[in-house]
Amino acid sequence: MKSYDLDGIGMTSARSRARLVEELAKKEKAGKPMIFDQGVLSAFATVPRHIFVEEAMAHLAYQDRALPIGHGQTISQPVTVAIMMQELLDVPRACVLEVGTGSGFQTALLAQLCDQVFTVERVRPLLDQARRRFEALKIRNVSAKLGDGYQGWPEKGPFSGILVTAAPRAVPQVLLEQLDVGGRMVVPVGGDGNQRLKVIDRSDQGYGERVVEGARFVPLVKGLRT
Ligand code: SAH
Repeated sequence: MKSYDLDGIGMTSARSRARLVEELAKKEKAGKPMIFDQGVLSAFATVPRHIFVEEAMAHLAYQDRALPIGHGQTISQPVTVAIMMQELLDVPRACVLEVGTGSGFQTALLAQLCDQVFTVERVRPLLDQARRRFEALKIRNVSAKLGDGYQGWPEKGPFSGILVTAAPRAVPQVLLEQLDVGGRMVVPVGGDGNQRLKVIDRSDQGYGERVVEGARFVPLVKGLRT
């Protein structure tokens, strides 16, 4: 069983992590702080991102950049992850579905802030690796499964929050249905070069949506990877 250097040293130390948190907290857009949610910032201060990237890249883990994680996928850029989390968790959300586990980093952040996290990934080696990381970090409130995120996880729904980490062309109807009334979905939508990060709220009147910003995510691909 692989052992992880949880504490890190130098570029992977808690101090490097704290500097990333400071950098995120200082980011501004139109003179306003972009990341103001203290819960989100403290989750970033807690979860060691360096164990969610390949060892050869661990020294880059606390820079605000996306990094390759194999299988043509990437661990998302910290500021993007922070924005998505902040939008999703405008109010506490107990039961959250994440579509696209990837490295598992965002899952681990969600696990700090939500009671129960369900996550679906279509690439088995990524899922297996993410599970080992949750185990190493003793994260117990995450259930992860191999599956096609276009189907969500109907047996576990409805969810008070759904976070999609790869971009479908249009918001999947199935996922909208698995959102609880009062729930919120954060999802990048659109094709290459023309994506929008959307926030969708479900009320008893129906669905309302707003665009947060332009986005650049890997595509949400139908079916399991063969
Ligand atoms: N938040 C993750 C992002 C990973 S990239 C991180 O920071 O590591 C998006 C992930 O979505 C990839 O791992 C990709 O394999 C996965 N994905 C793409 N289409 C999917 C689908 N239909 N179902 C489940 N996962 C999917």
